[in-house]
Amino acid sequence: MTTDSTLIKTREANGTSAEIQKINTTMKALVYHGPGKKSWEEKPKPVLIESTDAVVRILKTTICGTDLHIMKGDLPEVIDGRIIGHEGVGVIEEAGSAVTNFKKGDHVIISCVTSCGKCDYCKKAMYSHCEKGGWILGYMIDGTQAEYVRIPYADNSLYPIPEGADEEALVMLSDILPTGFECGVLNGKVKPGDTIAIVGAGPVGMAALLTAQFYTPAEIIVIDLDDNRLAVAKTFGATHTINSTDGKAVEQVMKLTNNKGVDVAIEAVGMKPTFEMCEEIITPGGHIANIGVHGKSVTLHLETLWSKNITITTRLVDTVTTPMLFKTVLSKKIEPKKLITHRFKLDQIIEAYETFGNAAKEKALKVILTN
Ligand SMILES: [Zn+2]
Ligand SMILES: [Zn+2]
Repeated sequence: MTTDSTLIKTREANGTSAEIQKINTTMKALVYHGPGKKSWEEKPKPVLIESTDAVVRILKTTICGTDLHIMKGDLPEVIDGRIIGHEGVGVIEEAGSAVTNFKKGDHVIISCVTSCGKCDYCKKAMYSHCEKGGWILGYMIDGTQAEYVRIPYADNSLYPIPEGADEEALVMLSDILPTGFECGVLNGKVKPGDTIAIVGAGPVGMAALLTAQFYTPAEIIVIDLDDNRLAVAKTFGATHTINSTDGKAVEQVMKLTNNKGVDVAIEAVGMKPTFEMCEEIITPGGHIANIGVHGKSVTLHLETLWSKNITITTRLVDTVTTPMLFKTVLSKKIEPKKLITHRFKLDQIIEAYETFGNAAKEKALKVILTN
């Protein structure tokens, strides 16, 4: 608030009218008001608080499955009045005096993870657990589903976009591509010739599918309940797809693998049945890589797994691979833009939530909102 009034005072000193002050100090944003309640409303435009901050004018943003969890009230630590959203691209409106990598007018990708670059976890490249950041955007601090957003530690939390790049495709680098790649593919230790299974063909499962192919696995089996998503997975490189509605997915995977199971099982749903499916289809020596956000406990079947030499991994995306993934998108080695199924103007965001919230019916994967 102090900073806000300072801003107004400065503008008064410059002789601007009261009306212009109002226009300059407010913006529109998607605001969470407790479980099931949200609105597109006027909020104060963010201002620099620390010298390491930048204020970014949003160009394009999107809605994540995590945002739906917040809206349902699954993350009760999110306060009433919070602006949601942790993905997007934008242009620097104002950079703090300590920001050296960016200046006003630069186009940037906003990372879903904020990192100070200096704490013990950042020094270990575990930015997701940064003592001053981590995943805070659109969660513990105001996020990107707004006309403007304040980004702390801008030098470490933003990535420059070269001129002429396709900015829609780059929105996929804020979260889903590094998440699918780091938590699924890297933690799963996917190798050439592997047989892998991806359980869950939502945007993050699809990101794992796209990036697993860097390592040329022999077979990629994608499992989901939605035939449309499975058809899309085929076009993205799945060698086999299984609709698990009939409860026989495990049998089908075992049949496809001569009863051996898969080398890598990537869990991209975050539920008990899907995690336990991974435990059933893993081959001796295999890796179960969890990506899913689990709200409830699952059963660890050590009675069958104790002797199988398997590795189970968990991870929150660190976004350490974002610069590498950026190059693969710019060179069109992977084309995450194909994940975009719907486009809206930013002020149609309530409608966009409806569409994304009914993903199966609307055949939605990623929605893009343009400011
Ligand atoms: Zn996300
Ligand atoms: Zn840190």
